[in-house]
Amino acid sequence: MLDFKAYISENGAESGRFIAEKDWSVFSFLGPIESWPAALKSTLLTLLPAKHPKMVVWGRKFACFFNDAFVEHFDIEPTMQGVNLEQAWPAINNYILERSRKAFQDGVPQYISSANFSENLPLLDVDILPVFTGDGDVGGITILVKVAQMFKYQKELNENIERLRLATEGTNTGTWDLDLVTRKLFHSSTLAEIFGYDKNTILPHTILLEHLLEDDRKNIVEPALKRALADGNYTYEARIITKDGNNKWVSTKGKVYFDESGKPARMFGILTDITEKQTAKQLLEKANRQFNIAMEATNMGIFEYQVRAGSFDYTDKLLSILGIDADRPIHFSEVILRFEKPYREEVIKQIKSSIKDGNLHYQAQITTQKGELKWVESYGKVYYDKHHNPTSIFGTLKDITDLKNAQLKIEESARRYQFLADAMPQFVWSAKADGQLYYWNQVVNQYTGFTLDQLLNEPGWYDTVHPEDREVHLEKWKDSIAERKPFIFEHRFRNKEGKYRWQLSRAVPKIDDAGNVELWIGTSTDIDDLKKSEQEKIAFIKMANHELKTPVTTIKGYVQLLMRSHGNKGDELFDTAIGTISNQVNKLTGLITDLLDITNIESGELPLKKEFFDIKQLAADIIETVQMTQNKHQLKFAVDGNIDNWQVHADKERISQVLINLLTNATKYSPNADTVEVQMSKKDNDIIVAVKDYGIGINKEDVGRLFERFYRVQGKDESTFPGFGIGLYIVKEIIERHNGKIWVESALEEGSTFYISLPINNQ
Ligand code: ADP
Repeated sequence: MLDFKAYISENGAESGRFIAEKDWSVFSFLGPIESWPAALKSTLLTLLPAKHPKMVVWGRKFACFFNDAFVEHFDIEPTMQGVNLEQAWPAINNYILERSRKAFQDGVPQYISSANFSENLPLLDVDILPVFTGDGDVGGITILVKVAQMFKYQKELNENIERLRLATEGTNTGTWDLDLVTRKLFHSSTLAEIFGYDKNTILPHTILLEHLLEDDRKNIVEPALKRALADGNYTYEARIITKDGNNKWVSTKGKVYFDESGKPARMFGILTDITEKQTAKQLLEKANRQFNIAMEATNMGIFEYQVRAGSFDYTDKLLSILGIDADRPIHFSEVILRFEKPYREEVIKQIKSSIKDGNLHYQAQITTQKGELKWVESYGKVYYDKHHNPTSIFGTLKDITDLKNAQLKIEESARRYQFLADAMPQFVWSAKADGQLYYWNQVVNQYTGFTLDQLLNEPGWYDTVHPEDREVHLEKWKDSIAERKPFIFEHRFRNKEGKYRWQLSRAVPKIDDAGNVELWIGTSTDIDDLKKSEQEKIAFIKMANHELKTPVTTIKGYVQLLMRSHGNKGDELFDTAIGTISNQVNKLTGLITDLLDITNIESGELPLKKEFFDIKQLAADIIETVQMTQNKHQLKFAVDGNIDNWQVHADKERISQVLINLLTNATKYSPNADTVEVQMSKKDNDIIVAVKDYGIGINKEDVGRLFERFYRVQGKDESTFPGFGIGLYIVKEIIERHNGKIWVESALEEGSTFYISLPINNQ
């Protein structure tokens, strides 16, 4: 029951009471009834029972009357019936108040669309209509508030948004609420943060749109909005550039609310930063793509076997490997049938045991439907549920026929190699990259009397090396390993009778494709007999040399005596004969010296008697002497004039021997030329001597071998160029023992230049 006093007269005096049932079914005016204007009475009676918020404002005092719907929505005290509008309802929007006054004064209806009563209220359509009294004056107004369809959702909506906000806090999800009419946007602080702003920033909708990548805005967001306005669901994933310039992926989900007339009025939803998820997704997609490419490239088939259900899933490739031609699903047992009989049980055994240890691996032979024999290899992994019961086996299958055949061939050739190695009289052995020996052919077992195990472990192969050779042997072997250069060494091995025999060992590294040493392959050849005859030869040469020297020196002495006493006296025959004898004896002396030098070099004895001397002077003297013995060539000598100190510390005799040798070769091998040039210079700490001729030159292939013992260039007329091929060998030894170098530059038919370099500070 409503029961209130109403102030409706001009002077504000109480003029009546108004009583109504709560549901407006029965109501009446009490008091001096005649003082209630008829227009007010009828208006009240018509409007107040309405379900929607209605208000009647009457008289200059603006006394207001309102129905329950009004109280419910606008937070007005029910006791304020009949009280002045502003007093009764302080929260009233100024604009509505103003328009109400206007309607009252001018008697013109006022229509307000989407009025914003207060922060907490939805937008409202308000009709303010004047109420005319019987005499045509405006007695009051009615305020009819029509809430858009949305209104009834409003509270619920706000609550939902609030719940959503709470739920999304801390999950990188922002909430938003967009008025589609005014384009006004409300959003949570997280949303501002996602876009790179401070959390207190309030962003208008237009700014947010600007953060979208141009392409995504056009191709993703705008079409999504179009769809949303049609079906009510707004959803997209797009890229944004945040205020601080970061690229992000965001996902939006929203709902559109339509007003009574079906016009989209409002849209709200969430926006989530899905950068991480998107990156992960892209990585996953990439990984998947790579996996597929890898699978294609490796020609592997994939399968998944569901242990409990017994179902079998596979790729087409798997079927083609198995040679199964079927356009219906294949059962696992059909796969098993393709395995060759002996492998069938083995494969099943492997599958069973894989369930225990988690990993599957087997190689087996299969026959395809067409009867072709193939080798396949499978790798798999078993997956378990949380009770450790196997759920599925996931794996790959590969055709390894070619590989397997190649492997069989390799095994075959390894067997052949071993047979060959065992058939050889030499020792054949192999060592790992680090030099550790691990294989010997049977000859080694037979020679040493050691088993493979004894060679490998105790007492070990090293035990058979002569104690005197061990240290140098080891050093050389280590050197070869470190520098990856071939190993060559002469040493003695003990045989099973306890006797040592000389062996020549050689080993070369086998380098793999990546340039690493894979292993060393070595051989040892018995050179004991050779070695002994070499030693006998050296002993013989030394002895012969000694025996030859005495008669030759005597002949030389008498020749000189004869030359002095009987020479140059007009007896031409005598002069020619004694000259020839002298030359030949000199040659013979030279030969004997060379032979002795060789034997000395060979047995490691070529002692140097070093002294300080002027090498320029020595060269000048030698050139002069050589010039005297022949007149076909003119020997020219040039030195670097900037240098005045030509002192060296070396064996003068030996250096003379070198220079004489080079000069003699230069004249000997340039029979058609008439000059030989000697040039001396200094480079850093070396003295360089160059002997240049314009002779026959040397082939490229021969250049590298000239300095070998007894090496002579083939195809030469022996009578034109007599010699033994030992001169350059000795020259090289002498120069190297002085820590110097020798090399040659030559062109066929143009001539050669032999260079030697000698270190100055050769102490
Ligand atoms: P030989 O006694 O044969 O001269 P060397 O050891 O002095 O022995 O020389 C070895 C070989 O090198 C010679 O046989 C010759 O073929 C070649 N040789 C040496 N010097 C020259 C040169 N100046 N021009 C061309 N060939 C040369």
